[in-house]
Amino acid sequence: MEEVGTGLLDRLDALQRVAASAPGGPLLIVAGPGTGKTRTLTHRIAYLCAELDVYPEECLAITFTRRAAEELRERLEGLLGPVTEAVTVSTFHALGLSILRENAPAVGLTPKFRIAEEADLLAALDPLSEREARRALAAMEPSTVDALAKALRAKDMVSLDELLTLSVQLLTESTTLVDRYRDRWQWIFVDEYQDVDPVQYELLRLLCPPGGNLCAIGDPDQAIYSFRGAEVSFFLRFATDFSTQDIDARVVRLTRNYRSSAPILAAAVQAIAPTTLVPGRRLDPARLDLEAPMVGLYPATSVADEADFVVRTVDELVGGLSHRSHDNRVDSRAAVGAMSFSDIAVLYRTDSQAAPVVDALARAGVPVQKRSHDRLLDRPGVAAIARELRFATGLGGSIAARVRLAGQVVAGRCGQLDTDVIGLTEADVWTAVELMTPPALRAGSDLDEFLGALATGAEVDGWDPRADRVTLLTLHASKGLEFPVVFLVGCEDGLLPLRMPGSQGRSEDDVAEERRLFFVGLTRAQDRLFLSHSRTRFRHGSEREMAPTPFLSSIDPGLLERRGPAAPRKPKDRQLRLI
Ligand code: ATP
Ligand code: MG
Repeated sequence: MEEVGTGLLDRLDALQRVAASAPGGPLLIVAGPGTGKTRTLTHRIAYLCAELDVYPEECLAITFTRRAAEELRERLEGLLGPVTEAVTVSTFHALGLSILRENAPAVGLTPKFRIAEEADLLAALDPLSEREARRALAAMEPSTVDALAKALRAKDMVSLDELLTLSVQLLTESTTLVDRYRDRWQWIFVDEYQDVDPVQYELLRLLCPPGGNLCAIGDPDQAIYSFRGAEVSFFLRFATDFSTQDIDARVVRLTRNYRSSAPILAAAVQAIAPTTLVPGRRLDPARLDLEAPMVGLYPATSVADEADFVVRTVDELVGGLSHRSHDNRVDSRAAVGAMSFSDIAVLYRTDSQAAPVVDALARAGVPVQKRSHDRLLDRPGVAAIARELRFATGLGGSIAARVRLAGQVVAGRCGQLDTDVIGLTEADVWTAVELMTPPALRAGSDLDEFLGALATGAEVDGWDPRADRVTLLTLHASKGLEFPVVFLVGCEDGLLPLRMPGSQGRSEDDVAEERRLFFVGLTRAQDRLFLSHSRTRFRHGSEREMAPTPFLSSIDPGLLERRGPAAPRKPKDRQLRLI
């Protein structure tokens, strides 16, 4: 635990300190990537609890993903120590779940209600055929929503979306309840506020009145979830929404980027410039290392060639794969100045791009791990095991042991049933078992809580930031993270911006969002950034010619260093510049 008191704010720069120590009232921290927004947020909570008379119990910090919540809690623990226990750190969904659990009867549920899985939703739409039901679920017309809600309520279930809509309904109908929650959580903090959607916004408005202690943090240029209903306008009108006649919302802008080398930051700033939502914003590099390498650019001839480029560059960065012994430790000769696998991330626009890179890395003996963004419950096998677990409530033992047992049951059934019919292989089941017991879940021992975590957890997987493996992840899943080395593969028109088969181009807004996604990707890199694109790619059923992403042309060619092909690199290759 770090020393609290003035020492706590010593680790912040002047503007961060202003934000962290601002008095109560609405506070908006708006700043670009790597400026220490999340760091300022944790320091603010710690400062309020350690220095002012704020009780940790009164603090509610909200994030969008379960993992972001875990990371926030961890960082907070480092500052505040065990007191952190009392702070509520929650995703929007988990917050909705806890509000509903506390008030279940008011919305026609028992406190033991459960969150519907896909199979439950399909069953609830009976007598439609499975195909019709799937189509209805995808379209979600108001009449479907109503029918579904009724059917689920009769079975003491709610859908994932309803965790929030029902919470809003509950609080809209009862001022007593609103007062109770406002009294409980007098200080509310929301990271990545640019991705709030209308229901989440409604909930925040109910929990925090205008003039209240709401601290919202974010960057409009990193708004990448409009396809899920997020609206960056909530961010842009924060001051209007939460100010009162007597209390003006305070706005703090952070301007120093501590994450990226100067060339990486310059390239990112140029990439977002054409459609930035924060015109005139300053983003100055705190790192002014004159020796910093430029952004690498590799025009590949094929997807295989691109994957090969990633492998040989990883090889270079770790000081030679052949120097590494079996347990992946770098021997002392090779380790001088070398990166480790955990420093390296490969980012891509769509999940389907991962396979060629994973295969090439695996062939070269590079350990990899994927940081996924799916709901664990949607993975093959996991829902089946969760069902077994629910039957197994009477069993004792740790969660991990019970999960393993449920896995055995499911695997046993797989052996006898036609696996095609239930769509599960034994390997799927064991993957699921492994996935279901990531470190974060192994410690909890309440089964209901565990199953609730499974249902609301958007992205719980086995990803471990400390493992010595190269991380593979989509641009969406990379938000908020940083890595010393970042590869962004598939920088091609059609992937960035993404175009679906048959679509007639995309609207300006869509393209702007894709550009923000590109910006998010570039700004994850600390020391080295490599962009690559392939001349051909298998897309929508056939091999296609691909052009580089138009976003690349916003970057000054002087910031890009064209990387050579596989042949032994000569020093002069490094001097080439892309025109
Ligand atoms: P993003 O928009 O990508 O979420 P962010 O604004 O939340 O970025 P952080 O993740 O909080 O940025 O910080 C980026 C990096 O800069 C972290 O490694 C953090 O520790 C470091 N950093 C932030 N502020 C300072 C500071 N005052 N001194 C030194 N390092 C800092
Ligand atoms: Mg952040």
